[in-house]
Amino acid sequence: MGTFLSDFYQLDWFEIAKKIDSVEASQVDIAIQREGRGGLEDFIALISPLAGEKYLEDMAQLSNRLTKQRFGKVIRLFAPIYLSNECNNICDYCGFSLGNKIPRKTLSTAEILKEAGALRSQGFEHVLLVTGESTRKVGRQYLFDAISLLGNYFSNISIEVQPLSMDDYNYLISAGLHAVLVYQETYNKQSYAAHHIKGKKTNFNWRLETPDRLGQAGINKIGLGCLYGLTKEWRVDSFMTAMHLDYLEKKYWRTTFSMSFPRIRPYEGEIEPIVDLSDKNLVQLICAYRIFNHELELSLSTRESAFLREKLLPLGITTMSAGSKTNPGGYTVSHETLEQFSISDSRSPEEVAEMLTLNGYESVWKDWDSSYDFVNKKDIHKKYQLHQNASNVTLVS
Ligand code: SF4
Repeated sequence: MGTFLSDFYQLDWFEIAKKIDSVEASQVDIAIQREGRGGLEDFIALISPLAGEKYLEDMAQLSNRLTKQRFGKVIRLFAPIYLSNECNNICDYCGFSLGNKIPRKTLSTAEILKEAGALRSQGFEHVLLVTGESTRKVGRQYLFDAISLLGNYFSNISIEVQPLSMDDYNYLISAGLHAVLVYQETYNKQSYAAHHIKGKKTNFNWRLETPDRLGQAGINKIGLGCLYGLTKEWRVDSFMTAMHLDYLEKKYWRTTFSMSFPRIRPYEGEIEPIVDLSDKNLVQLICAYRIFNHELELSLSTRESAFLREKLLPLGITTMSAGSKTNPGGYTVSHETLEQFSISDSRSPEEVAEMLTLNGYESVWKDWDSSYDFVNKKDIHKKYQLHQNASNVTLVS
C-alpha cells in the first residue's frame, strides 16, 4: 500500500513558497466567498502574506461562523501526563534531548496512578500520555500497560510518543488507545536534518509515513502539526501539513483528525526560534485551517499565554489543554528542572473552565467513552488476548 511519501517527493518547496507569495486578491476573495469546502489552492490563498495583511478580519468572522455552525460554543479539555523524560535522541529545541544533563525519570505504576488521581480529582476524562523516545524504557509493553491501567479511570486516552510500527499501534489500540499525535515538526528536509541531530528521529521518512501506519491500523484519531519556529518559511510548512491532512482524510476516511500549532517555547538548553511566528500569523493560520476544513479539531496548548488563548477562542479552536505539567510526576511532585518546555498559561483547570463560562463557552470534559474504542476492535482485542490487568488498582489522589 502506498504512503504519503510518493506525493511528498513530487513537491517543490521553493515553487510552493513562490506560489504563496504571488497570491492575488481575487484568489483570496474566491477562497473566502466559496460556499462549502475549498481545496488546497484556497488554502494557499488563505495563508498568503496578502491575506494576512488585508483579509484577516474577514477570515476571522468566517472562521468564527463556521466553527459555531459545526461545533457550537464548546471546548474539549484535556491534560497531558508526562510518563517519562528519557530520550535517546538529540533534538536541539527540546529539554529532553539526550545531551541535556537533567535528571531522568520514568513513572512507575504507582506514580502513574498518583498522577491519574490528581487529574481525575480536577475533572479530567481525556488524557494525553507523553514520553521521550526511548524504546528500552518506554517501549511498546510499557505503553500498553500504561494505557490498560489508565483505561480504568479515563474515557479517552491519546499518546504522543516515538513513531511505532503498525503492529505496535494495533497492539496499543487493543489496550484502548484512542488517538495518536505525531507532528512532523517541519516538512523541510534540510531544516529537519539540522534540528534532529542524533537518534531514530533523524529518520525523516519513517516519521512522515507514521500517519499512514496509523490509518492502516484503524486508529480513531490522528493529530498533525508542525513546530513553528524551526523553519523560516512557516507558510510552506503549514501548506505541506494541510496537504498531508488532505491526503490522509481521503485515504483513511474512517479516521478523524486534529491540528495543533505549537510554537517553540523556552526549555532546558535554549535555541532561538529561526522565525518568530507572530500572534497575528497564528490567528491567520487558525482561520485558514478552519475555512479549509470545517470538521477539523483545532487544538491549542498551554504553550500559549492565558491572554492569547482567550482571544483565540472564537476563531476556530475546539480543544485545549489546561493546568498542564510537562515533567514526569508534575501533578504530584515538583521537579521543574525535568520539564520538556515551560508552559505559558499556568492557570488551573478550574480557572480555565471559569474563563470559558465567562466567554459563553461550555467546557466539555467527556465526549467519548472508552467502550466505543472496543466496539469495532473486537478482532484486534482478541488477537492480543488483552488482560485488563489493572482493574483492581486503587486511585491515589
Ligand atoms: S523532541 Fe522528542 S525525540 Fe527529540 S529530544 Fe525531545 S523528546 Fe526526544
